[in-house]
Amino acid sequence: MAATTKKTATKGTKKMAKSVIKKAASKAATKVATKKGAATKKTSTSSKKDVVAIEPVLLQCVKGMRDILPGEQSYWQQARKVLEYEAEEYGFGRIDVPVIEYENTFTQPIGKSTEMIEREVYAFKTRGRENVLLRPDFTPSIARAYLQHSMNMFTQPIKLFSTGRSYRYDRPAEGRYREFHQANYDIYGEEDPVLDAQVIQIAYRVLQKLGIKNVQFQVNSIGTQESRAQYKDLLTSYFLSKKNKLPSKYRDIIEKDPMRIFDSKDEKVMQVCVGAPQAIDHLDKESRDHFKNLLEYLDELDLPYMINPTLNRGMDYYTRTVFEVYAIDEKGLRHALGGGGRYDDLIENLGGEPTPAIGFGFGIDRLVLEMKRLKTKSYKPPQPKVYLAQLGDLAKKKSLKIFAEIENAGILVAESFGRGNLMEQMEQAQKIGVEVTLIIGQKEALDGTAIVKNMHTGTQETVTQESVINAVKSAMKKHVVVKKVNKRDGKKDDKKARKSQKK
Ligand code: AMP
Repeated sequence: MAATTKKTATKGTKKMAKSVIKKAASKAATKVATKKGAATKKTSTSSKKDVVAIEPVLLQCVKGMRDILPGEQSYWQQARKVLEYEAEEYGFGRIDVPVIEYENTFTQPIGKSTEMIEREVYAFKTRGRENVLLRPDFTPSIARAYLQHSMNMFTQPIKLFSTGRSYRYDRPAEGRYREFHQANYDIYGEEDPVLDAQVIQIAYRVLQKLGIKNVQFQVNSIGTQESRAQYKDLLTSYFLSKKNKLPSKYRDIIEKDPMRIFDSKDEKVMQVCVGAPQAIDHLDKESRDHFKNLLEYLDELDLPYMINPTLNRGMDYYTRTVFEVYAIDEKGLRHALGGGGRYDDLIENLGGEPTPAIGFGFGIDRLVLEMKRLKTKSYKPPQPKVYLAQLGDLAKKKSLKIFAEIENAGILVAESFGRGNLMEQMEQAQKIGVEVTLIIGQKEALDGTAIVKNMHTGTQETVTQESVINAVKSAMKKHVVVKKVNKRDGKKDDKKARKSQKK
């Protein structure tokens, strides 16, 4: 049923787009014809320019991009709320960075030969001939900001939380978009593995709070740049010895980026990978100790993790710890929700002093997909306690000020200044379930008064507009008292009932 509706909707949209194209094309033709007629001296080149300039409007998002409509926003709000709450709980300061960065902020630390840089970035030249890109990820942007604002001068470690859009020219599919949203937790200036465990713990807590319970963490260590270089040589020799068993597209990357072969989902390639040397068997002593300590912390945390010896995250800037987190669906399929790792050399690669760092990023689109799939609780906005109803222009003017005063007093207030009808506003107040309704009609606006109606008891009193806040507060207190009395009465009644049952 849903599929049919979708099909019809798509057909409808296409039809609409076609008719718009037709209209726009015929408009364009008329415009060109008029211009040709009016300016007979115009050269053929200028009239050609006119034709090219007017393109039909497709009325569709660019491929791989999408709108997030009001109906879906409650999930997004819930995800953002939990992500931000955990950032605050763990002492992260929020940082916002631009979507556009200089290209080499990314190409230098990520490595030009990585798949992301080679095929997936939106890179372009500005009118000022600067080479820039839309960030495909946050890590190098945050590192750039750390250096630009000399954050090394502050007490370390520095914990930074960031969230926003990222762009990758990926093949669009469900959960894979060209514009997507990420939330990141980065810690600079400390190499203790307890912090590696802490970011994994944050990720786990976020998932628990969002109701995404069936998850799996995969962890690995890829050593330092030096131990990895030696390991890469070993791996290259191994894959070269198995070259004939690999499809041709993998043969080309054996010498360039052998670890990327591990990311293949091709059955034949996976079989070859089984016998390949593993990074954790070729770690330097410090990296081995670091990894051992991390695993001990993870055991303490009691979260579902496994060691994946081929996990490498595909980016040159990672050192030592790398990890990813997946949701497992009812068919046992894994869905990547986020990933991260240590990048102890990134700041140095960008020209700063050696600075250890660890970070982690969630894909928010994926979190929302998972929340929808599991039908988890979506965000419920806080409930207003007071409704402000008004009638007439003067009342509306006074209400704007009173509204702000009530909010400043820390009381959540609802209104619908767009509505003129008092009856409709009272119905709205009832529907929202507020405790108190303030009414400012034409008479009250002129008198400088307001009616305070206790929605629970139905009683109302007229007060001066100066004393509105106190009157609202005392009406709200009365409401609580009424509730308490009822509760107590209820308990008494319960006792009486139990006594009479015993008898
Ligand atoms: P990555 O660093 O590539 O592992 O990305 C971190 C997280 O961002 C992934 O685990 C996904 O949740 C999310 N992500 C990455 N690429 C996309 C994409 N094209 N569309 C939606 N989410 C993405």
